[in-house]
Amino acid sequence: MSAQKGSINVTSENIVPVIKKFLYSEHEIFLRELVSNAIDAAQKLKTLSVVGEYNGPLNDLKVEVKIDKEAGTLSVIDHGIGMTAEEIERYINQIAFSGAEEFLAKYKNDSNAIIGHFGLGFYSAFMVASRVVIKTKSFKPDTVAMQWECDGSPEFTMEEIHKEDRGTEIILYIDDENKDFLEKERIEGLLKKYCRYLPVPVVFGKKEEWKDGKMEETDQDNVINKTEPEWTKAPASMTDQDYINFYHDLYPMAGDPLFWIHLNVDYPFHLTGILYFPKLNNNDFNRNKIQLYCNQVYVTDSVEGVVPEFMMLLQGVIDSPDIPLNVSRSYLQSDQNVKKISGYITRKVAERLQNIFTDNRADFESKWDDIKIFIEYGMLSDEKFYDKAKDFVLLKNVEGQYFTLEEYKKLIVDNQTDKDGKLVYLYANDKDAQFTYIENARNKGYDVLLLDGQLDNHFIGMLEQKLENSAFVRVDSDIIPNLIKKDDIQSASLNDEERRMYTQLFKSQIPTLEKTEFLVMFEAIGATAHPVVVTQNEFMRRMKEMQSMQPGMSFFGEMPDSFNLIVNMDNPLIKQLLENANNKFGGEVAPTNHDIKAKTDELDVLRKENSSNKEDEIAIADKEKMTHLEKEIADLTAKEDSIIAAYASTDEKLRHLIDLSLLSNNMLKGEHLNKFIKRSINIL
Ligand code: ADP
Repeated sequence: MSAQKGSINVTSENIVPVIKKFLYSEHEIFLRELVSNAIDAAQKLKTLSVVGEYNGPLNDLKVEVKIDKEAGTLSVIDHGIGMTAEEIERYINQIAFSGAEEFLAKYKNDSNAIIGHFGLGFYSAFMVASRVVIKTKSFKPDTVAMQWECDGSPEFTMEEIHKEDRGTEIILYIDDENKDFLEKERIEGLLKKYCRYLPVPVVFGKKEEWKDGKMEETDQDNVINKTEPEWTKAPASMTDQDYINFYHDLYPMAGDPLFWIHLNVDYPFHLTGILYFPKLNNNDFNRNKIQLYCNQVYVTDSVEGVVPEFMMLLQGVIDSPDIPLNVSRSYLQSDQNVKKISGYITRKVAERLQNIFTDNRADFESKWDDIKIFIEYGMLSDEKFYDKAKDFVLLKNVEGQYFTLEEYKKLIVDNQTDKDGKLVYLYANDKDAQFTYIENARNKGYDVLLLDGQLDNHFIGMLEQKLENSAFVRVDSDIIPNLIKKDDIQSASLNDEERRMYTQLFKSQIPTLEKTEFLVMFEAIGATAHPVVVTQNEFMRRMKEMQSMQPGMSFFGEMPDSFNLIVNMDNPLIKQLLENANNKFGGEVAPTNHDIKAKTDELDVLRKENSSNKEDEIAIADKEKMTHLEKEIADLTAKEDSIIAAYASTDEKLRHLIDLSLLSNNMLKGEHLNKFIKRSINIL
């Protein structure tokens, strides 16, 4: 056959500009495509040899990648099946390209989709080359070697050549914009990324050795890949150390993994892989991702859609020829096979965790703190995973003991059910800051959970919905009798006057803290309970916490943190303090008190008389009178307040008791803390 000329058969004018234009983002994948074609050619020959359709020697089937900087070429050489002239015509020249324009418009930003859809693997070479030459000789006896050449225009040439050995050599004349693909480091990096676990040896140059003060080439091939990666092996043949070693091979910088799961499915889809539970450090979240392979060819490490969202925290390898890799993400997520795969992985992971829990609970508990975030995330985001995990999810109390949900319920049901039959789970999220509250609860015989994980707020919310008639209450959200209400407790009995004066007495001495508000309350919680206690309402706090996590709920975020300052009227120190106070300012405020009472009574009468009238039916005289009274009361109250505040500022004990309550809540800081320390020293 003499030299032949022809046009690449595409319906689109010219495919090459299309490739160059649309596949701009990931030029590097041309190397993956060419090397995989070479591997396929080698594998096919092996298969033909096994089934007896090829009887010649296989020899060394390695694939070689070479760069020649001077010639400006990059070559991929294999010793596989090769192509006959007819095959070049069929596989290279005839590109099925129907509906191209439409498809390209749709997927123009997704080069994988375009490449896969059209089997453009080989043509991706034109992303980086101005001219491509194929030299190939088929394994079939009595065929001639062929050379095909194309400069990116639709015209190509094809001619017979002499080629000694079987196989294909693809030579890329790298264009000016892509000269980096002639750099050794760049190519080695790409081969390590895409070809690390290919099933046929991929050779890139010779191994180098340190000799006489410099690196020198040896005569040994520099093999890039490991042809039998661990996930392709039978689990029974693997030791724990093998799994750990492979993990380090994948992620050289990571510590040891906690557990692993070897996946191996044949039906209804093919999937192998090894997933690892890593020991997560806070900054690890986006590094060391799961790698997706297709028949040992690295495809991507963005596995969104293939594995459930919460599994993204896992690491390792998934290899499946059944995941349609060359499609857009949205298509991937709706693909039935992918849904099955994702469901399968969820089930496998849950089963593995259940087994470890059942077989070796101590081991499970020892790793719990590390895997907790993963399991909570899974339970929060995947109903099916919740159903499986609810039997092995653990709760940890402040003493470091672990319980399943069922066990914990048994532990607290007798002592922590409130008068309405609701089971109250007490928890702390900071053992040190909430120490006093934890102690008080424990002294009462209550158990306190430690829920200090990043997802625990959400987790609590979910459990409250799932567990019937249960509530989670933080230990510092109320005084002990109110945390778990056993009987209707008596509030301290104070008349209006006392309540007003005592409120001012304490309020005037609370240090001003930024964005913080205190409500002074009086309770009778027993002589031995602390004199003053600071609490924060569970509901309000949760609202604020939620807000900080999701935008759009700024209403709660703008509000100050609201705390209760609870004065224990049973406490002897408080009794003494109030008695002293009454003695000191009681006489001085008595007349004002008397006046306030008289005016308030007068105002009440007027209001009552007019209570059935609408605003515009009230006589003008009455209106004026009421406004006047309101102002007088306000003035009198202000006067009284300033008398009480003046006294309060002289009562060091009062200020000290308030500071102590703030201190035990970790709220006494800076200048206020300094004053407290000075005052304490003075007292000593
Ligand atoms: P795909 O690999 O997706 O089929 P390609 O464009 O990469 O698409 O290749 C088209 C065809 O060309 C392959 O299916 C194969 O038959 C043939 N081919 C490509 N490269 C080689 C090679 N190195 N050796 C033998 N045949 C090859």
